[in-house]
Amino acid sequence: MVLHVPVLEYHRFLPSAAEVRAKHGYDVTPTEFDAQLTALQQAGWHTITASALAHDLQAGTPPPPHTFVITIDDGYSDGYTDALPVLQRHGMVATYFIIGGRIGDHPRPDAVSLDARQIQALAKAGMEIGNHTEHHVHLGQLSARVQRREIRAASSRITAITGVRPVTMAYPFGSYNADTPAAAARAGIQLAFDSHHAAGETWAARYSVPRLRVGPGVTGSQLVAMLTAAAA
Ligand SMILES: [Zn+2]
Repeated sequence: MVLHVPVLEYHRFLPSAAEVRAKHGYDVTPTEFDAQLTALQQAGWHTITASALAHDLQAGTPPPPHTFVITIDDGYSDGYTDALPVLQRHGMVATYFIIGGRIGDHPRPDAVSLDARQIQALAKAGMEIGNHTEHHVHLGQLSARVQRREIRAASSRITAITGVRPVTMAYPFGSYNADTPAAAARAGIQLAFDSHHAAGETWAARYSVPRLRVGPGVTGSQLVAMLTAAAA
């Protein structure tokens, strides 16, 4: 059974459009995010978490039409300070993919990672905390043993903070190889996302689920059209 539940891939939420454009080209402003979710909500779209999608896939139960998933990669604190209030205003949930070794890290003034307290607050607010490896590595270039270590270490840290073992993950850089599904499964991961730009999920291909990346300047109506096409 193929489900067509669009999965959106977000990264950072930066305050100004100029700053967003100056970065990687896949960040948005909180204002853009709010406009996107407003348009989706008005068009009848609602969210489930990635783990709920895994459950539906395994059970063979398609969720209602106009269901989509929001994922937020890399665990920056703006996911808490800027994205969470927007999500809550729209009654929506997201799955946050956290890098274990960067929790509470302050590498640069403009790049602060979520700390344990913020991750707990996200989980308490109904958000899912997923795995994005311990060191944000290219899994596809590593041995099976090191891959298992990367995935397990991040899951252990997240479990210690939230009390819930992650069942979903996103591969950093979309990188994985033939050993990755087994390494993920051994750590308790049921569903994993790559960075292939498409929509459509099967249980058989649950360790390489595609996503739709949302970049700067995407308007609400453009995103509604994108999801409508992806879910068809
Ligand atoms: Zn990443």
